[in-house]
Amino acid sequence: MPEGPEVECTRLSLRRFEGKKIVKIELTKLSQKYKKYEGKQKIFDVFIGKTITKIERKGKFLIWNFDFSKVILNHLGMSGHWIISEGADVPTQIIHPKIKILFKNENKIAIFEDARNFGQFRIYDTYQDVINYLPIRNLGSNGLKVPFPQEAFAEKLKLKKNANKEIGRILLDQTLIAGIGNIYKSEALALAKINPLRLVKKLKPEEIERLGFSISIILHKAVDSMGSSIQSFRTFTGEEGSAQKWHKVYAKAGIDCESCGNEIIRIVQDKRSTFYCEKCQV
Ligand SMILES: [Zn+2]
Repeated sequence: MPEGPEVECTRLSLRRFEGKKIVKIELTKLSQKYKKYEGKQKIFDVFIGKTITKIERKGKFLIWNFDFSKVILNHLGMSGHWIISEGADVPTQIIHPKIKILFKNENKIAIFEDARNFGQFRIYDTYQDVINYLPIRNLGSNGLKVPFPQEAFAEKLKLKKNANKEIGRILLDQTLIAGIGNIYKSEALALAKINPLRLVKKLKPEEIERLGFSISIILHKAVDSMGSSIQSFRTFTGEEGSAQKWHKVYAKAGIDCESCGNEIIRIVQDKRSTFYCEKCQV
């Protein structure tokens, strides 16, 4: 699933369409096969002739703002990604196109491809309505914020409800820090040399600080690498991101740790895989 850095890369590439007027927004033939898109063409038609003013990211959501009050909230789901392509037609190598957008005076189109079909498009009457949507309202601090929100991170970890939780579980809680998913959780804990099974209440202040720095370093490094392409994420040109090349622990069970030679292990926390080195992470 695309995490904060992959969604941020998507936002940065889609920004080229800010200030551009939409001439056509089309649900593809393929999308009509899925109930979730059925009859939605009319709803999307209200954006024809409108100009995109700003594309924002909140956690793993993209918020599309226009020169009128309506707003599109877009989640990439498990496998969704935007591709920017030359010309007006969807290239044949894009096999799961769901939405296609054409812009005025622009020889490129934006295509939303989504093989597993978990991507979301919600349309709101106003920006405030989006902000009131619970998964947005409850989001914690932006993990990509510079400088990293150390104080807010430490304060939230100190909450009583979190004391007895394993750090490897709680890092996925988007109300703590928004944008961390399973990959960067494992990588941040590895960089901070913290065992994912440690209870939050047992972490020393200096470890929490180190973890905050590690989250920040890992998330920014991921954006610089155009994200991780473990399953299906693709950059806007259709290429794979390269962050997986520097992963130290994620999906490396059975492989020797680069630092100590011990085998990386995989455990399951809240039905999600966590990878770590028992020797380096204490
Ligand atoms: Zn190690």
